[in-house]
Amino acid sequence: MSFVSEFNSLPAPALAQKSLAAGAAAVRASLAKSKLSLADFANLISPAGAELLEHLGRRSHTLTQQRFGKVIRLFAPLYLSNECINNCQYCGFSRDNPILRVTLSLDEVRREAQALKEQGFRNILLVAGEHPKFVSVNYLRDCVAALHPEWPGISLEVGPMEAADYVPLVAAGADGLVVYQETYDRKVYADMHTAGPKRNFDWRLETPERAYAAGFRRLGISPLYGLADWRFEAICVAAHAEYLLRNCWKAQLTISLPRLRPCAGEFQPLTHMSNRDLAQLICALRVMCPDVGLVLSTRESAKLRDGLLPLGVTMMSAGSHTEPGGYTGAGREKLHQTVRGRIVELGASEWASAPENATAATGQFQIADERSSQEVAELIRRLGYEPVWKDWDAALTA
Ligand code: SF4
Repeated sequence: MSFVSEFNSLPAPALAQKSLAAGAAAVRASLAKSKLSLADFANLISPAGAELLEHLGRRSHTLTQQRFGKVIRLFAPLYLSNECINNCQYCGFSRDNPILRVTLSLDEVRREAQALKEQGFRNILLVAGEHPKFVSVNYLRDCVAALHPEWPGISLEVGPMEAADYVPLVAAGADGLVVYQETYDRKVYADMHTAGPKRNFDWRLETPERAYAAGFRRLGISPLYGLADWRFEAICVAAHAEYLLRNCWKAQLTISLPRLRPCAGEFQPLTHMSNRDLAQLICALRVMCPDVGLVLSTRESAKLRDGLLPLGVTMMSAGSHTEPGGYTGAGREKLHQTVRGRIVELGASEWASAPENATAATGQFQIADERSSQEVAELIRRLGYEPVWKDWDAALTA
């Protein structure tokens, strides 16, 4: 039985409603428990829970230090390609967006990775749009194999695949797979994903299980906050995490906390999640799932990230670029427009009016924390934490 069966009978809308009505006594009672149910989690993310945020924050902080110590694991995204055959209303890479696109060659991927290595990174997240021709299994396998000798931690955030297609990626050296469900609301999901294979909600929802079956030992999940009610999404991702912890127990699980950022296409968030809501959610997830890693990316501002760090975050990106070639300028000479998944040749006048005068591929979204990785590492140290660039070595598990 996959998570889809459990999800279909999950009373998430009712729990989200119950959350809105929870009182302070219910929040305190849930907070006092050592093992929480989903109903307890709904209490922690309630408006009444927001009134007890200081209390919740102390509990979350203590649990995080007990389970993870005073360390923050750092990683960097490396965008391989911004080609995509899906239309996701909220994403700059959507196939119908007339943007500048490129898929990096293996040499260009090595150059980008080398630039990140020189900054100190040893954990890398390879990101690509979904395009079977440009971003094939063989291409991804070759990218992983090219980096594996020097990168002890390689995760992928790419279009969902069959388990059999993941096997060669694991064999080549990838150990982590990240897949955002985007939204757990089926209706909103259908509205947001108007073309391409991503329209299949259940297929995406089962991706972490297929990845686990293929041998990935790090799994990352998340909704994208700003599409549906954040409390509903939080209840669903907590249920998803519980399922994966029970059924994919050899894997380390992380939950990311992405909120929508401005991007090409200028999509506006459909729902609001405040900074305080985000802080409350971090604490509630920590109390609900004490051993799950919580990831905060450069989508959030420097000031907010600094404030959220001690609450329960265990992993951060830093100095990120969301366009292929963003660290070295690699691939610029191959820029082109792709419309509906096909390359379109541009005339000179069109190049002249192309965004940024065609000097760089278009990024997926604007980042908010523009500090360098060294500045972020220094800040982590100043807060009394140790920045960890590498916490895993394949040799230890051989
Ligand atoms: S979110 Fe992913 S699948 Fe959707 S358009 Fe962007 S890159 Fe493509």
